[in-house]
Amino acid sequence: MSRRGRARIWLGATVAMLMTSFALPPVVAQEAGSARRCSGGYVAITFDDGPTDVTAEYLKALRDAGRVRATFFVTGTLAEGHRDGTRRIVAEGHQIGNHSYTHANLVELDAAAAFAELRDTSRVIRTQTGRAPTLFRPPFGSTDARTRRDAAVLGMTEVIWTADTVDWSGIPTETVVANALTVRPGGIILLHDGLQTTLAAIPKIIRGLAERGMCAGRIEYSPKPVQAWPGLTFHAKAAPWR
Ligand SMILES: [Zn+2]
Repeated sequence: MSRRGRARIWLGATVAMLMTSFALPPVVAQEAGSARRCSGGYVAITFDDGPTDVTAEYLKALRDAGRVRATFFVTGTLAEGHRDGTRRIVAEGHQIGNHSYTHANLVELDAAAAFAELRDTSRVIRTQTGRAPTLFRPPFGSTDARTRRDAAVLGMTEVIWTADTVDWSGIPTETVVANALTVRPGGIILLHDGLQTTLAAIPKIIRGLAERGMCAGRIEYSPKPVQAWPGLTFHAKAAPWR
């Protein structure tokens, strides 16, 4: 075979390969994907009790899973000790929320101390990131009318959760994933920062949500009350990122 003939065959094969690998299949896959994507609604992935020494790894796991965004509820004391963590959470497009200053049970404090827990944490977050938080989660989900009023005075919506993974309790990653995937559309998944089992659960939770047509969203105010458990409602839900 002549050199030109070989070149022609090579060229033909290359064009065919390019058409196969770059032209048709990805377009078809994308169209099928976008039709299914998020058709199951939005849920919020939340991480409490950071920032920690492991926050950077959580952020990497979220990036690696397709630049998925979540919400981090940080305490004032941990934010003071991990300034870089707080800044990176915000720089990578995640929401950041107030989780009190010392992780106190707010309903057991006197009025001034309870308000200071929220005020000082919002101040730390604003100093570190340039923005005061608009979301607040009471430690232990322990709240009352005074706590909600304090949060409102500071411009924050109270956020509890609808799917508790109990990831802090030493359960294996697979159970954390299964608990997370009980979430319903619009719901909010509770996870914690600083745990290797939870870190390993992140890609699996995101894959499980995708299989259900669900996407990770932001948290916004919900005029309609949402039940956390019998006797406690809150006004927040998952929604698409803006
Ligand atoms: Zn907590």
